[in-house]
Amino acid sequence: MLIQIKENCTAENLEQITNAIKNVGYKPNAVKTLNNHYLACVGTNKFDIRSIGNLPGIKDIHIVEDSNMLVSRQWRVKDTEIDLGDGVIISRNNFTIVAGPCSIENEEQVMKTVSFLKEQNVKIMRGGIFKPRSSPYSFRGLGIGGLKIFHKHCNANGIKIISEVMQVSQIEQMYPYVDIFQVGTRNSQNFNLLDELGKVDKPVLLKRGMSSTISEFLSSAEYIFSNGNEKIILCERGIRAFEKEYRNTLDLNAIPYLKEKSHLPVFCDPSHGIGIRDYVESMALASQMAGADGVLLEIHETPEKAASDGQQTLNFFEATNAFMKLRLMDQVKKKMLGNAC
Ligand code: PEP
Ligand code: MN
Repeated sequence: MLIQIKENCTAENLEQITNAIKNVGYKPNAVKTLNNHYLACVGTNKFDIRSIGNLPGIKDIHIVEDSNMLVSRQWRVKDTEIDLGDGVIISRNNFTIVAGPCSIENEEQVMKTVSFLKEQNVKIMRGGIFKPRSSPYSFRGLGIGGLKIFHKHCNANGIKIISEVMQVSQIEQMYPYVDIFQVGTRNSQNFNLLDELGKVDKPVLLKRGMSSTISEFLSSAEYIFSNGNEKIILCERGIRAFEKEYRNTLDLNAIPYLKEKSHLPVFCDPSHGIGIRDYVESMALASQMAGADGVLLEIHETPEKAASDGQQTLNFFEATNAFMKLRLMDQVKKKMLGNAC
């Protein structure tokens, strides 16, 4: 059961509501976000919701069967939209393209990528400065110094930044320079990190853990929301399956499924999803047709020289084609299906 509390609810009213919830055998968990106050109530007893719903101070009450109730569409039918400012809005009405290198490598690379993205009218740039690498000997990112360079050029050109945060102590360091915090697949169930990201007022793009089920993925999102941050983007990036021909198995099933289960925007990362440059565009288009609200694409002027993930990175020519097709198909999809897609 999920209860939305009125803004002007008094302490006495809140106490009365809390007691009523406990009396029907439920445990209320208070959740306060930037603009809303909820009680996420856990329990299984059947009771007449009017006994609680009519109490003063309650804005709305919903029976939500999903255990990840805050991120569930059972109570919030409307899609969550995320406003990044300056007219950059993540919503199903405008397909979002996020592109950039796997890793921020140097200032020249940042400048070239920023000017390419500006020319292409791409408003959000990705780039890792803390890199989770399978081998400790691989390039592990430029750290905060790299983020400052990244920020300097994006800021000057009206481009928003998304970058991966790997541990709690990095949140504060990164905060002034990012518009979206990315949680990578390896940290998707780092609950301490998720708790802390729930306390910031910037959006979080949460990647699916490479071995997370849908329910575990949604639980990770629930961690962020229940700590107070409603601005979450779910991102399917492929899971570990038995197939070894490609890097991961991009679970396209997850896209329409998550769109239906949750009110949160759903993105797809086909670069990591398949891990092979030649097929990234196809999978990006497929994810769009499956209902993704946006894609994350790894791009580089010279992918063969990239410090990480070059094999799955599009060059600027390939990226130009992919952006053009994605935009065209977005138009076609909107014309054919209206808002039902
Ligand atoms: C990345 O986006 O560069 C990355 C490391 O992604 P993932 O966490 O999906 O592997
Ligand atoms: Mn990468």
